[in-house]
Amino acid sequence: MSRRLARPWVRPAPSPPETVPAEAADERGIDMQGPRGQIKVEAEDVQVTFRRRGQEIEAVRDFSLAVREGEFLSIVGPSGCGKSTFLRLVAGLESPTSGQVRCDGKPIRGASADRGMAFQQYALFPWMTLAANVDFGPRMRRLPKAQRRERVERYIRLVGLTGFEDKYPHELSGGMQQRGSLARLFANDPSLLLMDEPLGALDAQTRVLLQEELMRVWEEFGTTVIFITHSIDEAAFLSDRVAVMTRRPGRIKEIIPVDLPRPRTFETRGTETFAKLEFEIGRSVREEVDALS
Ligand code: ADP
Ligand code: MG
Repeated sequence: MSRRLARPWVRPAPSPPETVPAEAADERGIDMQGPRGQIKVEAEDVQVTFRRRGQEIEAVRDFSLAVREGEFLSIVGPSGCGKSTFLRLVAGLESPTSGQVRCDGKPIRGASADRGMAFQQYALFPWMTLAANVDFGPRMRRLPKAQRRERVERYIRLVGLTGFEDKYPHELSGGMQQRGSLARLFANDPSLLLMDEPLGALDAQTRVLLQEELMRVWEEFGTTVIFITHSIDEAAFLSDRVAVMTRRPGRIKEIIPVDLPRPRTFETRGTETFAKLEFEIGRSVREEVDALS
Protein backbone atom coordinates (compact mmCIF):
# COMPACT_ATOMS: atom_id res chain seq x y z
CA MET A 1 0.00 0.00 0.00
CA SER A 2 1.18 3.49 -0.73
CA ARG A 3 2.47 5.37 2.25
CA ARG A 4 0.71 8.45 0.97
CA LEU A 5 -2.68 6.99 1.88
CA ALA A 6 -1.71 7.19 5.52
CA ARG A 7 -1.55 10.99 5.23
CA PRO A 8 -5.05 12.39 5.05
CA TRP A 9 -3.84 15.95 5.60
CA VAL A 10 -1.91 15.99 2.35
CA ARG A 11 -3.88 17.59 -0.43
CA PRO A 12 -4.29 15.35 -3.49
CA ALA A 13 -2.08 16.50 -6.34
CA PRO A 14 -3.45 17.08 -9.83
CA SER A 15 -2.76 14.13 -12.10
CA PRO A 16 0.27 14.58 -14.33
CA PRO A 17 -0.52 14.60 -18.04
CA GLU A 18 1.44 11.43 -18.59
CA THR A 19 2.36 8.75 -16.12
CA VAL A 20 4.77 5.88 -16.12
CA PRO A 21 3.11 2.53 -16.78
CA ALA A 22 2.77 0.52 -13.59
CA GLU A 23 4.66 -2.47 -15.02
CA ALA A 24 7.70 -0.34 -15.88
CA ALA A 25 7.77 1.19 -12.42
CA ASP A 26 7.37 -2.20 -10.76
CA GLU A 27 10.63 -3.32 -12.34
CA ARG A 28 12.41 -0.61 -10.39
CA GLY A 29 10.71 -1.70 -7.19
CA ILE A 30 8.36 1.25 -6.92
CA ASP A 31 5.02 0.93 -5.24
CA MET A 32 2.54 2.32 -7.74
CA GLN A 33 -0.64 1.89 -5.75
CA GLY A 34 -2.65 4.71 -4.36
CA PRO A 35 -3.59 8.08 -5.83
CA ARG A 36 -0.21 9.60 -5.10
CA GLY A 37 1.98 6.71 -6.17
CA GLN A 38 2.74 8.11 -9.61
CA ILE A 39 6.22 9.00 -10.74
CA LYS A 40 7.01 12.71 -10.73
CA VAL A 41 10.66 12.68 -11.74
CA GLU A 42 12.57 9.89 -13.36
CA ALA A 43 16.23 9.61 -14.30
CA GLU A 44 17.23 6.76 -16.54
CA ASP A 45 20.86 5.71 -17.07
CA VAL A 46 22.03 9.28 -16.84
CA GLN A 47 25.63 10.18 -17.50
CA VAL A 48 27.14 13.66 -17.30
CA THR A 49 30.67 14.49 -18.41
CA PHE A 50 32.06 18.00 -17.98
CA ARG A 51 34.90 19.25 -20.14
CA ARG A 52 37.18 21.85 -18.69
CA ARG A 53 40.57 22.91 -20.07
CA GLY A 54 40.87 19.77 -22.16
CA GLN A 55 40.08 17.60 -19.15
CA GLU A 56 37.02 15.44 -18.81
CA ILE A 57 35.24 15.02 -15.50
CA GLU A 58 32.58 12.36 -15.30
CA ALA A 59 30.19 13.63 -12.61
CA VAL A 60 27.48 10.94 -12.70
CA ARG A 61 27.22 7.58 -14.45
CA ASP A 62 24.51 4.88 -14.50
CA PHE A 63 22.36 7.23 -12.48
CA SER A 64 18.76 5.99 -12.29
CA LEU A 65 16.14 7.18 -9.84
CA ALA A 66 12.38 7.51 -9.67
CA VAL A 67 10.82 10.10 -7.38
CA ARG A 68 7.15 9.62 -6.49
CA GLU A 69 4.53 12.29 -6.76
CA GLY A 70 4.24 14.07 -3.42
CA GLU A 71 7.19 12.41 -1.72
CA PHE A 72 10.02 14.04 0.19
CA LEU A 73 13.18 12.43 -1.11
CA SER A 74 16.64 13.33 0.15
CA ILE A 75 19.91 12.65 -1.58
CA VAL A 76 23.09 12.22 0.43
CA GLY A 77 26.60 11.22 -0.64
CA PRO A 78 30.24 12.22 -0.45
CA SER A 79 31.22 15.74 -1.46
CA GLY A 80 31.71 16.01 -5.23
CA CYS A 81 29.74 12.85 -6.07
CA GLY A 82 27.32 14.66 -8.41
CA LYS A 83 24.38 15.60 -6.17
CA SER A 84 24.13 19.19 -7.39
CA THR A 85 24.68 18.03 -10.95
CA PHE A 86 21.61 15.81 -10.73
CA LEU A 87 19.51 18.59 -9.24
CA ARG A 88 20.61 20.97 -11.99
CA LEU A 89 19.52 18.40 -14.56
CA VAL A 90 16.04 18.28 -13.01
CA ALA A 91 15.96 22.09 -12.86
CA GLY A 92 16.78 22.15 -16.57
CA LEU A 93 20.01 24.10 -16.00
CA GLU A 94 22.16 21.27 -17.33
CA SER A 95 21.65 18.50 -19.91
CA PRO A 96 22.70 14.88 -19.62
CA THR A 97 25.56 13.72 -21.85
CA SER A 98 23.57 10.52 -22.26
CA GLY A 99 20.42 9.07 -20.73
CA GLN A 100 17.29 11.00 -19.90
CA VAL A 101 15.59 12.88 -17.07
CA ARG A 102 11.81 13.22 -17.20
CA CYS A 103 9.30 15.22 -15.21
CA ASP A 104 5.64 14.18 -15.46
CA GLY A 105 6.70 11.70 -18.12
CA LYS A 106 8.22 14.33 -20.41
CA PRO A 107 11.93 14.95 -21.02
CA ILE A 108 13.08 18.09 -19.20
CA ARG A 109 13.98 21.01 -21.46
CA GLY A 110 15.03 24.26 -19.84
CA ALA A 111 14.05 25.82 -16.54
CA SER A 112 10.46 26.33 -15.34
CA ALA A 113 8.88 28.06 -12.35
CA ASP A 114 6.91 24.85 -11.87
CA ARG A 115 10.21 23.26 -10.80
CA GLY A 116 11.26 25.69 -8.07
CA MET A 117 14.90 25.64 -7.06
CA ALA A 118 16.21 26.71 -3.65
CA PHE A 119 19.93 27.14 -3.09
CA GLN A 120 21.94 27.66 0.04
CA GLN A 121 22.17 31.39 -0.61
CA TYR A 122 19.01 33.24 0.27
CA ALA A 123 16.99 33.69 -2.88
CA LEU A 124 15.47 37.03 -1.93
CA PHE A 125 16.02 40.17 -4.02
CA PRO A 126 17.78 42.63 -1.68
CA TRP A 127 16.07 45.66 -3.28
CA MET A 128 12.55 44.39 -2.64
CA THR A 129 10.55 44.17 0.56
CA LEU A 130 9.61 40.73 1.85
CA ALA A 131 6.05 41.13 0.53
CA ALA A 132 7.31 42.21 -2.91
CA ASN A 133 9.66 39.22 -2.96
CA VAL A 134 6.86 36.78 -2.18
CA ASP A 135 4.63 38.53 -4.70
CA PHE A 136 7.26 38.30 -7.44
CA GLY A 137 6.18 34.93 -8.90
CA PRO A 138 2.42 35.58 -8.78
CA ARG A 139 3.00 39.04 -10.33
CA MET A 140 5.10 37.58 -13.16
CA ARG A 141 2.30 35.11 -13.78
CA ARG A 142 -0.17 38.02 -13.90
CA LEU A 143 -2.52 36.62 -11.28
CA PRO A 144 -5.38 38.95 -10.34
CA LYS A 145 -4.48 41.53 -7.67
CA ALA A 146 -6.84 40.19 -5.00
CA GLN A 147 -5.51 36.68 -5.45
CA ARG A 148 -1.95 37.92 -5.24
CA ARG A 149 -2.61 39.84 -2.03
CA GLU A 150 -4.27 36.78 -0.49
CA ARG A 151 -1.32 34.58 -1.46
CA VAL A 152 1.32 36.92 -0.12
CA GLU A 153 -0.54 37.20 3.16
CA ARG A 154 -1.02 33.43 3.44
CA TYR A 155 2.53 32.37 2.64
CA ILE A 156 4.11 34.97 4.86
CA ARG A 157 1.86 33.79 7.68
CA LEU A 158 2.76 30.16 6.98
CA VAL A 159 6.45 30.79 7.54
CA GLY A 160 5.76 32.90 10.63
CA LEU A 161 6.77 36.29 9.24
CA THR A 162 3.52 38.23 9.60
CA GLY A 163 4.39 41.79 10.60
CA PHE A 164 7.63 41.80 8.57
CA GLU A 165 6.01 42.35 5.16
CA ASP A 166 7.59 45.77 4.61
CA LYS A 167 11.09 44.83 5.75
CA TYR A 168 13.98 44.48 3.33
CA PRO A 169 16.10 41.29 3.42
CA HIS A 170 19.01 43.05 5.18
CA GLU A 171 16.62 43.93 8.03
CA LEU A 172 15.87 40.24 8.60
CA SER A 173 18.02 37.59 10.32
CA GLY A 174 19.53 34.73 8.30
CA GLY A 175 16.80 32.35 9.48
CA MET A 176 14.06 34.84 8.62
CA GLN A 177 15.51 35.39 5.17
CA GLN A 178 15.52 31.64 4.65
CA ARG A 179 11.86 31.46 5.71
CA GLY A 180 11.11 34.33 3.37
CA SER A 181 12.69 32.49 0.48
CA LEU A 182 10.57 29.44 1.35
CA ALA A 183 7.45 31.62 1.24
CA ARG A 184 8.58 33.00 -2.09
CA LEU A 185 9.14 29.51 -3.49
CA PHE A 186 5.78 28.21 -2.28
CA ALA A 187 3.94 31.28 -3.61
CA ASN A 188 4.79 30.05 -7.10
CA ASP A 189 2.78 26.93 -6.33
CA PRO A 190 5.49 24.69 -7.77
CA SER A 191 4.61 21.03 -8.26
CA LEU A 192 8.25 20.18 -7.58
CA LEU A 193 10.74 21.75 -5.17
CA LEU A 194 14.45 21.25 -5.70
CA MET A 195 16.53 22.12 -2.67
CA ASP A 196 20.32 22.08 -2.70
CA GLU A 197 21.53 22.23 0.90
CA PRO A 198 19.12 25.10 1.56
CA LEU A 199 19.73 25.13 5.31
CA GLY A 200 23.48 24.57 5.10
CA ALA A 201 24.51 28.11 6.04
CA LEU A 202 22.44 28.32 9.22
CA ASP A 203 23.43 27.79 12.83
CA ALA A 204 22.35 24.48 14.36
CA GLN A 205 19.45 25.89 16.38
CA THR A 206 17.88 27.86 13.53
CA ARG A 207 18.42 24.89 11.28
CA VAL A 208 16.37 22.53 13.47
CA LEU A 209 13.56 25.12 13.67
CA LEU A 210 13.55 25.57 9.92
CA GLN A 211 13.50 21.83 9.33
CA GLU A 212 10.29 21.69 11.37
CA GLU A 213 8.97 24.71 9.46
CA LEU A 214 9.71 23.10 6.13
CA MET A 215 8.06 19.86 7.29
CA ARG A 216 4.93 21.71 8.30
CA VAL A 217 4.63 23.63 5.03
CA TRP A 218 5.37 20.53 2.98
CA GLU A 219 2.80 18.45 4.88
CA GLU A 220 0.23 21.12 4.15
CA PHE A 221 0.95 21.40 0.42
CA GLY A 222 2.08 17.91 -0.50
CA THR A 223 4.56 19.17 -3.10
CA THR A 224 7.17 16.73 -4.37
CA VAL A 225 10.55 17.64 -2.86
CA ILE A 226 14.04 16.56 -3.88
CA PHE A 227 16.32 17.67 -1.08
CA ILE A 228 20.11 17.55 -1.06
CA THR A 229 21.92 17.67 2.23
CA HIS A 230 25.21 16.62 3.76
CA SER A 231 23.49 16.27 7.12
CA ILE A 232 22.46 12.68 7.83
CA ASP A 233 20.07 13.55 10.66
CA GLU A 234 18.41 16.22 8.53
CA ALA A 235 17.82 13.64 5.78
CA ALA A 236 16.39 11.14 8.27
CA PHE A 237 14.15 13.70 9.93
CA LEU A 238 12.61 15.16 6.77
CA SER A 239 12.37 12.35 4.25
CA ASP A 240 10.07 9.61 3.09
CA ARG A 241 13.11 8.00 1.50
CA VAL A 242 16.83 8.74 1.54
CA ALA A 243 18.84 7.99 -1.60
CA VAL A 244 22.54 7.38 -0.96
CA MET A 245 24.95 8.10 -3.80
CA THR A 246 28.29 6.42 -4.45
CA ARG A 247 31.50 8.39 -4.79
CA ARG A 248 32.11 10.07 -8.18
CA PRO A 249 31.05 9.22 -10.82
CA GLY A 250 27.94 9.11 -8.69
CA ARG A 251 25.01 6.76 -9.05
CA ILE A 252 22.29 5.73 -6.62
CA LYS A 253 23.82 3.15 -4.33
CA GLU A 254 20.76 2.38 -2.22
CA ILE A 255 17.46 3.87 -1.16
CA ILE A 256 16.60 3.77 2.51
CA PRO A 257 12.90 4.13 3.41
CA VAL A 258 12.22 6.26 6.48
CA ASP A 259 9.50 4.60 8.53
CA LEU A 260 8.90 7.37 11.02
CA PRO A 261 5.29 8.44 11.58
CA ARG A 262 4.14 11.93 10.59
CA PRO A 263 3.71 14.60 11.62
CA ARG A 264 7.24 14.51 12.96
CA THR A 265 8.31 16.62 15.90
CA PHE A 266 11.41 17.30 17.93
CA GLU A 267 10.55 14.15 19.93
CA THR A 268 10.96 12.06 16.77
CA ARG A 269 14.72 12.61 17.09
CA GLY A 270 14.77 10.77 20.40
CA THR A 271 13.30 7.52 19.12
CA GLU A 272 15.19 4.29 18.58
CA THR A 273 13.99 4.09 14.98
CA PHE A 274 15.51 7.50 14.31
CA ALA A 275 18.86 6.51 15.83
CA LYS A 276 18.97 3.29 13.79
CA LEU A 277 18.14 5.11 10.59
CA GLU A 278 20.76 7.75 11.20
CA PHE A 279 23.32 5.03 11.76
CA GLU A 280 22.29 3.08 8.67
CA ILE A 281 22.42 6.11 6.36
CA GLY A 282 25.63 7.34 7.96
CA ARG A 283 27.34 3.99 7.52
CA SER A 284 26.38 3.83 3.86
CA VAL A 285 27.81 7.30 3.16
CA ARG A 286 30.88 6.56 5.25
CA GLU A 287 31.76 3.51 3.12
CA GLU A 288 31.93 5.78 0.08
CA VAL A 289 33.91 8.47 1.84
CA ASP A 290 36.39 5.87 3.15
CA ALA A 291 36.84 4.44 -0.36
CA LEU A 292 37.97 7.89 -1.54
CA SER A 293 41.07 7.98 0.63
P1 ADP B 1 28.22 17.54 -5.15
O1 ADP B 1 27.07 18.48 -5.26
O2 ADP B 1 27.83 16.13 -4.87
O3 ADP B 1 29.25 18.00 -4.17
P2 ADP B 1 28.70 18.33 -7.93
O4 ADP B 1 27.52 17.80 -8.64
O5 ADP B 1 28.71 19.78 -7.63
O6 ADP B 1 28.96 17.48 -6.59
O7 ADP B 1 30.00 18.02 -8.78
C1 ADP B 1 30.34 16.70 -9.23
C2 ADP B 1 31.69 16.75 -9.94
O8 ADP B 1 31.55 17.46 -11.16
C3 ADP B 1 32.77 17.47 -9.16
O9 ADP B 1 33.99 16.82 -9.39
C4 ADP B 1 32.77 18.87 -9.75
O10 ADP B 1 34.03 19.47 -9.62
C5 ADP B 1 32.42 18.59 -11.20
N1 ADP B 1 31.67 19.69 -11.83
C6 ADP B 1 30.44 20.15 -11.46
N2 ADP B 1 30.04 21.14 -12.27
C7 ADP B 1 31.03 21.32 -13.17
C8 ADP B 1 31.22 22.19 -14.30
N3 ADP B 1 30.30 23.08 -14.65
N4 ADP B 1 32.37 22.08 -14.99
C9 ADP B 1 33.31 21.18 -14.65
N5 ADP B 1 33.20 20.34 -13.62
C10 ADP B 1 32.08 20.38 -12.88
MG1 MG C 1 26.65 20.28 -4.25
